[in-house]
Amino acid sequence: MTHQAEIISIGDELTSGQRLDTNSKWLSEQLGLLGVKTAFHTTVGDSMADNIDAFRTAARRADIVIASGGLGPTADDLTREAVAQAFGVELEIREEALQHIESLFAMRKRPMPERNRSQAMFPVGARIVDNPHGTAPGIDFCPSLDHYPEGRPSRIFALPGVPAEMMQMFSAVVRPRLMQEMGIGKKRWMFHSLKVFGIGESDVEKLLPDLIARDRDPVVGITVSKATITLRIAALCTDDAEFRTKIQPTVDEIHAQLGLLVFGEGEIDLHDAITELMKDKKKTLGLIEIGSGAWIQQSLAPLSESRSSGLQVSSWLPAIESLASFSPSGFEAPRNDPPESRINDDVVKLANAAEIIRRHHDLDLCLAAGVYPAKSEIQAAQSLPACDISFALARRDQNVIHTRTTLGAHPDVLYHRLAKAGLNFLRLEMLRNG
Ligand code: AMP
Ligand code: MG
Repeated sequence: MTHQAEIISIGDELTSGQRLDTNSKWLSEQLGLLGVKTAFHTTVGDSMADNIDAFRTAARRADIVIASGGLGPTADDLTREAVAQAFGVELEIREEALQHIESLFAMRKRPMPERNRSQAMFPVGARIVDNPHGTAPGIDFCPSLDHYPEGRPSRIFALPGVPAEMMQMFSAVVRPRLMQEMGIGKKRWMFHSLKVFGIGESDVEKLLPDLIARDRDPVVGITVSKATITLRIAALCTDDAEFRTKIQPTVDEIHAQLGLLVFGEGEIDLHDAITELMKDKKKTLGLIEIGSGAWIQQSLAPLSESRSSGLQVSSWLPAIESLASFSPSGFEAPRNDPPESRINDDVVKLANAAEIIRRHHDLDLCLAAGVYPAKSEIQAAQSLPACDISFALARRDQNVIHTRTTLGAHPDVLYHRLAKAGLNFLRLEMLRNG
């Protein structure tokens, strides 16, 4: 049986945005490791009606519910009362919990305020989740369907909001109970990522329509970050070997459909793929970036620091005016462009610069990136423009090649995309022609 969980995070400080809900993230990851899928994250403020509603809703649609927050001693701590009311039971004092709270205060040599007694109140029928380091014990409760006929058999845990206490109690009590009493944890969610650059998200979906189907096993998700697409394959498995076997056809299909658009697998980005390629092929690289950006150089910074590993990257940032001073070096203008066009003229200059620098420094490759509007210009523009950028790549013993592409995006993403477009041009050339 597959289990479905809901996490409820309780507190006005969360719904108002004052504090980030980190408990949901942590709990969902922990449940994922046990093979339990978290279907819902609910965040609710310190209101009794809303808490009752949240618990009832969760019990209707999930069979494991883990709440955190609202177990303190103050008037805004409503979780105990909310669980009791949501599922039609009374609260009762539990001596063992009260003794624990009293002993904590005794140890700290402070009198126990009367209000803290409320932390020893539990819905009738609940089990206690010990909290060795705090005064808020947790609740482990199975609502009776007599009181809540629209619910499904579900197990509700309520833990304190303090992340350290919540984590300790989950690890020491909740996880073992889930494993021993509900048979959870024999399989766990495992993940493998394929990284893609040079295509839009919707085009990936078009090329792989069957893979993105939600009811598929293994399931494949698409996310995008800084112009890199991640295809994340997930499956519920007992071990690595089973996972590998299960995902292999999916991995093969992605490679077959996307070919060189896939630049790597696992936690890598494009500059890591380039690093590996350059190490493999023992290439030396020059970089020329015109104008103010230096985005490619920045994205390769970790690479140039790793000279010790045999990598050699040098970079130049000439002003646009100085491009004219690079004299022709036998680069032939692309035939289809009218020779008088300005674009063509710029590409020729870029290509000349790349080839001259490559020869002068005796490099295997030299990548030159043309001018692109600076961030300040783009931010000042009314609408975000899409602009053309040229790349030229000079190669030892071969002619200079070039490409031109139109790029546009939010300024925070744009320059990553720009740098990656240049790096990908370089990568494809290294793959195709050694
Ligand atoms: P409470 O159990 O509601 O009294 O919360 C105790 C402390 O834990 C407060 O300082 C909260 O800001 C913090 N806290 C509560 N819930 C969360 C959460 N979901 N993520 C991170 N911190 C939390
Ligand atoms: Mg609170």
